[in-house]
Amino acid sequence: MPITTRCLLCSRKLLDHQTLAQYFLKDELCDKCRRSLKTRKRTIKLQNLKITSFHLYDETMSDCLIQYKECMDEALKDIFLFEVKDWIHFHYRNCVFLCAPSSSSALERRGFQHVAQMFSSCGIEVIDCFRKRQEFSQKTATVMQRKNIEELLQVDINQIPKNKRLILIDDTVTTGSTLLALQKLVGEKRCKEALCVSLHPKMLAKYDKIRKRKCIYFP
Ligand SMILES: [Zn+2]
Repeated sequence: MPITTRCLLCSRKLLDHQTLAQYFLKDELCDKCRRSLKTRKRTIKLQNLKITSFHLYDETMSDCLIQYKECMDEALKDIFLFEVKDWIHFHYRNCVFLCAPSSSSALERRGFQHVAQMFSSCGIEVIDCFRKRQEFSQKTATVMQRKNIEELLQVDINQIPKNKRLILIDDTVTTGSTLLALQKLVGEKRCKEALCVSLHPKMLAKYDKIRKRKCIYFP
């Protein structure tokens, strides 16, 4: 039996509104909500970082993220990567995940590290080793702050195991500047990849423009 008996998004009874596969895999969403949260795997290359994302960033995704992050609905943590968690576990079983930092005020407000929780169902060790030196939000940051983002972040290198591949994880990538700065902090040789739940349309548009100009193809 699923842990919840009602869909976490629309509250319909799961027993009456799920496929057999969803029921046995213990999905916490009904079939309609599951279909509306579209899984689309996409990989892009940003400088020396390969970023793989798993969801379209559409209205449903945006609403789910707001409910999870801003309304502190921690119960939603497993719905985002439900369809890809086994794929992630298989491909990254010898790695450790380093989660992108939240500001201390956001952490305090939520009471949980939202990125670490989203990836917790994948069965890979998640390390929360980055900190923001001061309050800094990508949305409200000035151009100068974005340029100097590396100086605003710090890493506790002692928490990172020496013999494992490092993978950065984040929820939504909007400009990629935070991930690139985190990659520099741990070293580009040790960390070549990042996984994110979704890529913001702004990021995709920017990437597609660069790809066209350089005539490179990366599916
Ligand atoms: Zn539902």
